[in-house]
Amino acid sequence: MEAEKIKSEVDKIKSLFEQELQIAEDEETKIRQIRTKYLEELNKLFKLIRELKDPEEKREIGKILNRTKEYFEEITQSKLEKKEITKIEIPDISIESYFGFHGSLHPITIALRQITQIFEKMGFEVEEGPEIETDWYNFTALNIPPEHPARDMQDTFYLEDGRLLRTHTSPVQIRAMEKRKGKLPVKIIAPGRVFRRDWDATHSPVFHQVEGLYVDKVVRMSDLFGILEFFFKNFFDGKVKVRFRPSYFPFTEPSAEVDISCICDGKEPACKVCKGTGFVEVAGCGMVNPAVFKNVGYEDVRGFAFGMGVERLCMIKFGINDVRLFFGANFVAFKRRYF
Ligand SMILES: [Zn+2]
Repeated sequence: MEAEKIKSEVDKIKSLFEQELQIAEDEETKIRQIRTKYLEELNKLFKLIRELKDPEEKREIGKILNRTKEYFEEITQSKLEKKEITKIEIPDISIESYFGFHGSLHPITIALRQITQIFEKMGFEVEEGPEIETDWYNFTALNIPPEHPARDMQDTFYLEDGRLLRTHTSPVQIRAMEKRKGKLPVKIIAPGRVFRRDWDATHSPVFHQVEGLYVDKVVRMSDLFGILEFFFKNFFDGKVKVRFRPSYFPFTEPSAEVDISCICDGKEPACKVCKGTGFVEVAGCGMVNPAVFKNVGYEDVRGFAFGMGVERLCMIKFGINDVRLFFGANFVAFKRRYF
């Protein structure tokens, strides 16, 4: 090969080397690969020097090749070193958290998801309704008579136009039955926020309920007991006993209160959760009052309904003693204490 050809070959290799290096940016392995590849290319050209006859040319080409080799080595080395320097110079501006937790779901959300999952397993659909309701859906359709204390201004938030903030999730039962008219069964649960004029350690003006409704041609009270027992045993990990006590609600007949056994198992007379009785009230239930079916135009059907307070279930499940903590701002203290 002639000297001129070797020179142009060197130029070609040099420009290819530069191009590849640019594409590689700061990637260490790539830079190292490029260096090895192009030094090998140069070595091939070094071997060609022997073939040149003119000693002057031999010296000149030798010089060019050596300079190019140095150039390849220096430029790749500086790129690699720069990368190492950059690594050290970037300061870590993050600071370690003061707290030992990284955030999690609100206990109410945890409970609501769990409740929904258990009922979905038993074939219940989740139904939602508006938080601002009319008197009809919140009271009248549910057979709550005009003299009922729940209708009092002291217990319910009324809007200026006569509507109100729903005091329970029961209006969703009426809406669900209207929507599904002629399509049995109606098998829903309605989780959601409800509002009452209360504020103390066990009452909050906003809280959550889950309502359940099952309507079909044949629905028995024993179905209701079985479903609720299954639910509470699952929600409290099978550790509880469930009992039903006769009670009264305008929208169910017959009606019952649902109690579950306390964590103290009735062995501590001073227990704050059950006040020494060994049982805690957690839900209300019963067979849907025929008057309610009449209000939505359902005939020849039977059904049961139940309702429970989510905060109350959470307080028992997680051992929380003040309902206001669920809505308070000092969540850090809350989480430290309970989670
Ligand atoms: Zn107790």
